[in-house]
Amino acid sequence: MNIARQVLIRSRITCRSAYVSCRRRFCTSQHIMSRHTHAKRIEGLDKNVWVAFTAMSADPSIVNLGQGFPDIPPPSYVKEALAKAVFEDRMNQYTRGFGHPTLVKALSQVYGKVYGREIDPFKEILVSVGGYGSLFSTMQALVEEGDEVIIIEPYFDCYVPMVRMAGAKPVMIPLRLKSGKKTISSADWYLDPDELSSKFNSKTKAIIINTPNNPIGKIFTRDELQMIADLCIKHDTLCFSDEVYEWLVYKGHQHIKIATLPGMWDRTVTVGSAGKTFSVTGWKLGWSIGPEHLIKHLQTVMQNTVYTCPTPIQEAVAQGLLLNYDIMGQPECYFTSLAEELEGKRDRMAAIVQEAGMTPVIPDGGYFMLVDVTSLNQDLSHMGDDEAYDYKFVKWMIKEKKLAAIPVTAFVGDESKKHFEKYIRLCFIKQDSTLEAAGAILKNWKKV
Ligand code: PMP
Ligand code: GLN
Repeated sequence: MNIARQVLIRSRITCRSAYVSCRRRFCTSQHIMSRHTHAKRIEGLDKNVWVAFTAMSADPSIVNLGQGFPDIPPPSYVKEALAKAVFEDRMNQYTRGFGHPTLVKALSQVYGKVYGREIDPFKEILVSVGGYGSLFSTMQALVEEGDEVIIIEPYFDCYVPMVRMAGAKPVMIPLRLKSGKKTISSADWYLDPDELSSKFNSKTKAIIINTPNNPIGKIFTRDELQMIADLCIKHDTLCFSDEVYEWLVYKGHQHIKIATLPGMWDRTVTVGSAGKTFSVTGWKLGWSIGPEHLIKHLQTVMQNTVYTCPTPIQEAVAQGLLLNYDIMGQPECYFTSLAEELEGKRDRMAAIVQEAGMTPVIPDGGYFMLVDVTSLNQDLSHMGDDEAYDYKFVKWMIKEKKLAAIPVTAFVGDESKKHFEKYIRLCFIKQDSTLEAAGAILKNWKKV
């Protein structure tokens, strides 16, 4: 056989075996894909409003009042504290897993004042990756398969997947709107006491509350919290209280911690966030505060999952807290001054929305505003009917008007969608120029 023929045969053999091994590999990955699909605990949790709408709003030509983050600068002292921390070499290494000592001590000082009780920095506080991390460790640590967890609609969207991932069943109760009012505020949304009490039973493990609430901005009153506390005590359940917007409370309203009501400390985990406290959402640092007999279980989750949070960020947040601790209650304290600055932005946002012929729900706290878009009569029938109206409306508005918001049905269960699909959520912790740009779009709504 001549050399050329030998080379040809050899190359055919090589090609064939490569083909066979490639085919085998292909079959194997097909097989793996079909046999090893996702874990049941994440079934149906693949859609996420932030993933979808944040990507859609990323173009700089879009005025983004969607995802909740400030475009106003954070206080310079926290940024300086972070820069200083990274130049101290030991701050660039791991710190205590359950929370950097300087931070947990600062948190115990600040919250000691707020709760009116001593808080053990090492046993009653757990620092985690944002409010999200704190909520996740709470649910994983305390919620059991087969439990029920009561959730008030509209709710911050991650509560439902987190309850499901813990193997439990979310049980919804909607806030209802008092009818017949011309100007609507977040306080006009209320819990029906009989309806609420009907949701508690022997399977109820916990109720999740969020005050000030995202997305509606409702601040639960003492009476409302007492009604919830009475039910928790009667049915011996826990309470997970998400208070990440605790400082953002507008005139005439007061933030009350349900954990301070009689009998509630021992059954409540309260969640806070540095991202919200100091307008640094990208720092992703949060905390859970509660009695040692609950927090120790959250610590078990933490030590076996995330283990510890970034040291310099914890150090900088601690410095920010200590600085404000000394001036708490005074107008220059950031906890107070940010709320005052935001109240002006809230009023401005409401005026812009009203001028455009839409109806805002004036929030008593937080940095979001619900807006009823019914009066615009925007026909979206060309977009099909496989999505709620608000999803279509926001997609359309981003594309056609270059203004981004968040559809409110992302915050409710299927049963309540029909009550919320004419609302969108706007975020107003924005520079005046951003609010003005949004105002210009809304003013010219009909013209373009
Ligand atoms: N709870 C609520 C009500 C929120 O709006 C958010 C969003 N920031 C979180 C928890 C999560 O907070 P973080 O960004 O600190 O993880
Ligand atoms: N909490 C913020 C909001 O409600 C951001 C949530 C997120 O990006 N996952 O907009």
